[in-house]
Amino acid sequence: MSVKWGLIGASTIARQFMIDAIRAQPDGEIAAVMSSSAERATAYARENGIPAAVSNLDALLGSDIDAVYISTTNELHFEQALAAAKAGKHVLCEKPLALTSDDARKMVASAKEAGIVLGTNHHLRNAGAHRAMRDAVAAGRIGNPIAARVFHSVYLPENLQGWRIARPEAGGGVVLDITVHDADTLRFVLGDDPVEVSAFTQSAGMAGSGLEDGAMCVWRFKSGLIAQSHEGFTTRFADTGFEVHGSQGSLIARNVMTQQPAGSVLLRTASGEERLSFDRENLYARSVRGFHAAVRGEGQPSATGEDGIWSLAAAEAALQSAASGKTVKIDPKLGSMN
Ligand code: NDP
Repeated sequence: MSVKWGLIGASTIARQFMIDAIRAQPDGEIAAVMSSSAERATAYARENGIPAAVSNLDALLGSDIDAVYISTTNELHFEQALAAAKAGKHVLCEKPLALTSDDARKMVASAKEAGIVLGTNHHLRNAGAHRAMRDAVAAGRIGNPIAARVFHSVYLPENLQGWRIARPEAGGGVVLDITVHDADTLRFVLGDDPVEVSAFTQSAGMAGSGLEDGAMCVWRFKSGLIAQSHEGFTTRFADTGFEVHGSQGSLIARNVMTQQPAGSVLLRTASGEERLSFDRENLYARSVRGFHAAVRGEGQPSATGEDGIWSLAAAEAALQSAASGKTVKIDPKLGSMN
């Protein structure tokens, strides 16, 4: 049985990665695309070989589809996911799930009520590099994890210099864009949850309208581990990286905070240095593969709705910290949902 997808949003991410990722599945098919503009929907459908183009959510949800992929601007995810769940469609939603963790919790609750699968498209969990690091940490290869550092400050490509740097009401800003990924990847690699954050943000010349285009966060995790993360849109010449330092060793990964199955992971211990090998599967194809399995009742999406609540609660706390100058507790309030 194939999974028939409806795309909600004529977006760049769908065009660059997700359409191919769905079509890479033996059981994946894209049936329709929805844009708020009929003209854009038609052009997008034509350019991407999608059979149907619609400009209204009810028309999409009333059509013969099993699942939706939501990649509109961030303020639209919430209502679109609720409507899709109500219509009995499975939902793979882009991060951040919503503009507030309160809304994200409502999305997860409505998916549960409707009995549909809700996944968050945190692609980095699907990277071989991050899975190799998670396995090494879990196997005790660095001993007791003590500290982590994430370097994820990039240069926002010109074609994406739109709502992210100009529209607070659409959920712009680097924290909702990149810090959510870093919080999720830290949770995934460490197998631990953040409990508080202290953050500084800046506007270094790209973002306007009061939005931040750079952030540095310091996180404390349940285990006592401390982590730092740097997110940015304006550092044209910076590398990305991810490090975890433990009592018996360090994991040093370079060029791994990316959309490509790229980069390297070095394990350094008293016995010397070892380059970890890992698979180079396309991150987005793996995300869709896991989602399809979840739709068949086999396991969970690689990042669940609860993971999406966590990353948003963490980003929200970082924004509150930057605004208040205080350390802020992170509470995804998952207990209140059961
Ligand atoms: P885009 O700006 O490409 O698309 C977002 C929306 O903008 C589209 O849904 C579309 O609305 C509208 N739009 C696109 N082109 C035009 C145009 N020419 N004129 C007017 N409106 C236009 O966003 P991204 O693809 O970069 O991001 C979409 C979502 O995906 C966000 O939630 C983002 O956070 C997430 N994302 C996730 C990534 C990941 O790796 N997990 C990577 C990149 C983004 P309409 O549909 O109504 O036509």
